[in-house]
Amino acid sequence: MYQATSEVRVRFAPSPTGYLHVGGARSALFNLLYAKHNNGKFILRIEDTDQERSTQESLEMVVSDLQWLGLNWDEGVDPKTLKDIGPYGPYKQSERLDIYKKYAQQLLDQGKAYYCFMTDEELDAAREKIKAAGLHTHVESPYENKLMSEALERIAKGDKAVVRFKTRELRKEYILKDLIRGEVKFPSDMVGDFVMLRSDGMPVYNFCCVIDDYLMKISHVLRAEEHLPNTLRQLMIYEGLGWKTPEFGHISLILDDDRQKLSKRKGAVACDQFKKDGYLPSAMNNYMALLGWSHPEDKEIMSLGDMEAAFTLDRVHASGAVFDRVKLKWMNAQHLRALPNNEIWKLISPYLIEVGLKLPTDSDWQNRSVETFKSYMEILTDAVTLYSPLDDSKYEINMVESDEALKMESTKVVLQAWKELVAAHPTETFTEADFLAIQDAVKAKSGQKGKNLFFPIRVALIGKPHGAELKILVPLMHKKSILERAEKAFALINGKAGALC
Ligand code: GLU
Repeated sequence: MYQATSEVRVRFAPSPTGYLHVGGARSALFNLLYAKHNNGKFILRIEDTDQERSTQESLEMVVSDLQWLGLNWDEGVDPKTLKDIGPYGPYKQSERLDIYKKYAQQLLDQGKAYYCFMTDEELDAAREKIKAAGLHTHVESPYENKLMSEALERIAKGDKAVVRFKTRELRKEYILKDLIRGEVKFPSDMVGDFVMLRSDGMPVYNFCCVIDDYLMKISHVLRAEEHLPNTLRQLMIYEGLGWKTPEFGHISLILDDDRQKLSKRKGAVACDQFKKDGYLPSAMNNYMALLGWSHPEDKEIMSLGDMEAAFTLDRVHASGAVFDRVKLKWMNAQHLRALPNNEIWKLISPYLIEVGLKLPTDSDWQNRSVETFKSYMEILTDAVTLYSPLDDSKYEINMVESDEALKMESTKVVLQAWKELVAAHPTETFTEADFLAIQDAVKAKSGQKGKNLFFPIRVALIGKPHGAELKILVPLMHKKSILERAEKAFALINGKAGALC
């Protein structure tokens, strides 16, 4: 039986058993890029037959993360209602059980699958025996060639059986022409009769996957390398059913800098976490695409559209890709800084609000502040540290860090001069040059220089002698606020009560 279609149809098929891992997101991205490049369709199928581990919460999270990344699918579940969209539904495997039953029955009827009544204990004992004999064979089920009528009788009596796929006649060397890895050879003895349906009737991944990929007319299966052993089982099922296989491409693993499989010990791996940490979806996509693929002109900063236009599988390499968090941050900065200032403000606002910062609401100030700060920002959360010194209600003197400055003999005279010169400034705001001029004037008036000069001014502006660059902060502050802060610092060194309120 051959499928008559030349349309490219690819799918991302997450199991909703946790968060969307960056590795999963990259598989989704590669599928989307391949579909778009070939005017094909990208399908989202939910593989939720593992009822114990699948949750609605995880499904919603995976869907919302894919949406956040902008990896929009043509068919699958509707992102809002999670109802089916597309002609090949249902797209949730838990709603396709009758379909799997039908094909399982077909394989049973054809003698290509059988009911197996081995208990866990019997299986363990058989495995032990093989091991003790020093063999590397698979457990042979005594039920492989039993009469169907006998099996059905036992089942009718309430005995539990799994359905196993019969591999005996299919055991040979399988050669897969993988689109990414080239020829992959599977030895003939790699798998024994594997379970297709559990004893509760629930189908297992390898079986569902074949049925769905076939019925959903999937032309190319692009998925992680770790699925290669499953691919062998799936090739056998295709053969058993007499179906043409799709093309396969197995994408290499994402590795940590120690070349181990990417793990959360080294930092975020969940898309949701990157989102919370203030990464932009455009940067995530750009970075993930380069984990295993490269642009023909070696372009580095790319939009989704750029990548869709250039994505071909011959540029996807088979070796593991190292996840470089420093590079990802750098890339995020490039995407962030390329946005208009008002866009950046919109993006950072939620983070500023979340930590309760009170900042000016006029858009001129907001745009100006972004213009000042964006070259210091790599991820959106960096805005919190940058903007915090600008919130008057957060101004307080760090007594530990400021101890030395507060105890210096000269501090009083420096702050006195600072207050006077700021007050005498003719306008409500200051340019960088105004600030530097006033600082020079304080130096002249107080006769102080170096840390004797700078520490007190810093404490009077940001509450500590080190930290943010004053010449970029002051132009974003108002005279009133600078004076109030100076008064507080001055009062403190004069030992006035309530100075730290
Ligand atoms: N549900 C499988 C997973 O999440 C999908 C594998 C595949 O793409 O076939 O790993």
